Amino acid sequence: MTVPIGMEAGSAVRETAGSGLAAVEGGRETVIIGLEVHCQLNTESKLFCGCSTDYRSDPPNTHVCPTCLGLPGSLPAMNRRAVEYALLVAKALNCRVADEAEFARKNYFYPDLTKGFQITMYNRPLAEGGYLDIEGDGAEKRVRITRIHLEEDPGRLVHMGTPDRPRYSLVDYNRSGIPLIEIVTEPDLRSPKEARRLLNGLRTTLEYLGVFDGDQEGSLRVDANISIRGSERVEVKNISSYRGVEKALTYEITRQRGVLRRGQKVERETRHFVEARGVTTSARSKEQEHDYRYFTEPDLRPLQVRHWVEGIALPELPAARRERFTAQYGISPEHARTLCGELRLAEFFEQMAPCGNPLLAATWVADTLQGELNYREMEIGKVPPARFRELLGMLCRKEVTDKAAVEVLRRMLDQCLKGEEVQSPAQIMEKNMLGKTAGDTFTGIVREVIAECGDAVRDYRAGRGEALNFLVGQVMKRTRGRADPKELTRILREELEPQGT
Ligand code: ZN
Ligand code: MN
Repeated sequence: MTVPIGMEAGSAVRETAGSGLAAVEGGRETVIIGLEVHCQLNTESKLFCGCSTDYRSDPPNTHVCPTCLGLPGSLPAMNRRAVEYALLVAKALNCRVADEAEFARKNYFYPDLTKGFQITMYNRPLAEGGYLDIEGDGAEKRVRITRIHLEEDPGRLVHMGTPDRPRYSLVDYNRSGIPLIEIVTEPDLRSPKEARRLLNGLRTTLEYLGVFDGDQEGSLRVDANISIRGSERVEVKNISSYRGVEKALTYEITRQRGVLRRGQKVERETRHFVEARGVTTSARSKEQEHDYRYFTEPDLRPLQVRHWVEGIALPELPAARRERFTAQYGISPEHARTLCGELRLAEFFEQMAPCGNPLLAATWVADTLQGELNYREMEIGKVPPARFRELLGMLCRKEVTDKAAVEVLRRMLDQCLKGEEVQSPAQIMEKNMLGKTAGDTFTGIVREVIAECGDAVRDYRAGRGEALNFLVGQVMKRTRGRADPKELTRILREELEPQGT
């Protein structure tokens, strides 16, 4: 499915008369991007057979049967769950669901395609004409969805050797027949950043619906149509990561601008994104739509989806949850956006509710924890909620300083990463002398300092206040700056009181 890239009606664009150069908007060429996003639906079995989709830890070609191997005489049987998942997506993306959707055969030869055709939807997709609001610079931006359809994934080729010295290719049909949903957007995106935001938005929505697991390898593939207004468009295929999309588009825009700057024309072509090198390279000239000889799949009946979608209820979606978070917990819209931008993060935050201070929880989850997780490229799922809640509880009761709490958090995350059992914040503080609740250890250091700095102690007792500052400094040094100076001063004063009088 290709996206026609046209001119937008009514947009404020000046055409550069007759030069064949790109149009200019605010002194810069307008970049036009549309995406075709393939997402793997997380059903338990494949689209047209009962083979398990949970193949990732198994050897190649072990999740196969006559149907997904395309053996003669085998017939497809529709996976009901896959249709329901796709309809959930269509509903969540505000699409018009068709009365009937129909599968077609897309004919082409490739070793990963056993049947010689892919079963997909062509003329009669599941749904059309939806939209998704994404975070824009300032206001929200509405990106129109052209269509949504279901299709099967082909197998996977594994190329042996190196690009310079290829040896042979292996084929693994475990993926053959995995259900994909293809979401096609209108050419509404204007920058690689917006494309990334759209993908994030789609991922979040699909995860809220429970139909997609974005962490799984191979769960997302994107083809992008990209042009500079007034010039031909280029299709970039084979982008398989979120970061890859931004990289591929940025590279491609720079390349097209370079072509135009040299006074040449951008060729209409298909290019491949080479992830390892971060570049796009020209591919063989692409088949035309008619080369695929699409025709109705005779072994599957049309799906009565309009009727079906009426009985499907949507769960709470990201936008609704954001609103609920600001209303229910009184947290800022920015925090609500960060927290709700990832299902697991939102759920983690809600598990912090018992600590009784949602503002504190929002700051610590959305800012501090998120930052530490990003730094470690770690998933929120690895953090034990109970332990984090204990830490928040101690912060609420002012049993730990912010600085010490960050230290505790870091040690907790390191324990998670090493696969160790995560200790309680109190235990971690005790062990690492991180502050107030480690009373004994802490007082121990204070006593040590008092014993060693006799002169300063005498000065203090003689009424010279600045001697206390010196003692505080000495203790701070030994606790490597992790103690709360106020608390420290209090303990020092107490310890310096003449004993037994
Ligand atoms: Zn099968
Ligand atoms: Mn497709």
